[in-house]
Amino acid sequence: MPSYKQVFGVDPGSDLKEGQGVNFLLCPAATALRSILGCYRFFGVGKLQGQGPLWRPDNKTRLPSHAYTRHHAGTAVDIMLNEKSDPEVALGQHLVSLFEKFQSVMRWRSLIYQDYTNNPGDSTHLTPTCWSNGAHYDHIHIDWFDSKLVNWDKTITTVTLQNKNGSTLDLLVNTDGLATNIDWPSAANTDFRDNVELLKAVSELMAKFHAGELKKAVLGDQVCTVPVGVTKLELAGTWEANVNGWKGIFVFDAGGGVSWADSAKSTKHSGSWTATNSEVTWKFKDAGDIRTFKATLPLNRTKTSGIILPDGQGSFEMRKL
Ligand SMILES: [Zn+2]
Repeated sequence: MPSYKQVFGVDPGSDLKEGQGVNFLLCPAATALRSILGCYRFFGVGKLQGQGPLWRPDNKTRLPSHAYTRHHAGTAVDIMLNEKSDPEVALGQHLVSLFEKFQSVMRWRSLIYQDYTNNPGDSTHLTPTCWSNGAHYDHIHIDWFDSKLVNWDKTITTVTLQNKNGSTLDLLVNTDGLATNIDWPSAANTDFRDNVELLKAVSELMAKFHAGELKKAVLGDQVCTVPVGVTKLELAGTWEANVNGWKGIFVFDAGGGVSWADSAKSTKHSGSWTATNSEVTWKFKDAGDIRTFKATLPLNRTKTSGIILPDGQGSFEMRKL
């Protein structure tokens, strides 16, 4: 439970039809989490996701691909959070802490958020590690999935999608083949929606969120050698800068490049940035410019202040546009 056929309505390898439904079966634990969070207006339309699609472009190749995953099997919830909103990111980080605190109650087996992951499986042994596989800045993934409970048909390499206009589309299947059955581990049958302590903790957290009291942190700080993902995410883009009275812009890219300019249309002067766990520094290449700009992580989008080295070069402020 549940089988490929229950979810997609046909045997694995048979043709799919454009626009056909995906029969989404939710495990009791995922149902419980959705119902607890769903009580709050904030988690209304669009915030609680995790249903698998019929097919989608592959993350890397962009080719149309089809799979039966832990999402289709109803063992996962994706909690969508606006990565550009500091309060929402702070809420996400506090939710991760809350889920970890209540892992023995909720019995989730795996979660991912930003550059952080924790995979206790059936045990209550929490071991956070660094997540570097991308694509988890806009949601918390939490699941009750066990890869040992998946049956595969390795002989299936493509599935045909019949379009409504009579044409067909070949959907690629990953190299492991197509999952034919994904059993729920016992943890997936945990219904924790009446756990008083958990309900109270969520309610207190949401009150703090609405009061604007949650502070953002660097989640992977303790487990990632360099939280490059966080740094890049926060830094990349255009910042309005004020350097000792000069007003202009700094434009950072994700790959270590930076430039300054008087305005978006002015000549750009390039430089480079690097980051450690706790700070980001950058320099420009202009002849005679000895300055090193330094800001502490995590960056504040609305107002980041920093110092300029060597001593005596003053300070700067910047705000993300
Ligand atoms: Zn997910």
